[in-house]
Amino acid sequence: MYCTKCGKELEPTTAVCPACNAKTGLAPLPEQEKAEQETKNRFAVLWEILGFFFPLVGLFCFLGWRKSRPLRGASCGVGAVFGGLLFLSMAYFFAIFYFFLLMIGAGVTIGMV
Ligand SMILES: [Zn+2]
Repeated sequence: MYCTKCGKELEPTTAVCPACNAKTGLAPLPEQEKAEQETKNRFAVLWEILGFFFPLVGLFCFLGWRKSRPLRGASCGVGAVFGGLLFLSMAYFFAIFYFFLLMIGAGVTIGMV
């Protein structure tokens, strides 16, 4: 890899050309990386909330962004897991609740209660 401005040979991990200080685009600049990280952190909670309330949407976001936007995808995945668990536990609770109602109802019909 060579510098696009001065043509000097560069290390594959150099962010700035040592000869002319031009950005090489080979490695992210620390400042850019930091700003990007902050943006990701700021929005991570939003994606978690989205995944929490819409586990299916979160799941699809997780699968879709798994490669292109791993952090955002992970946030959606985390939200989807918690939302999904809540949904399953509620479904489980209601299943048991209706089962007991059914049992009581059955008991009443055969004169046990
Ligand atoms: Zn250069």
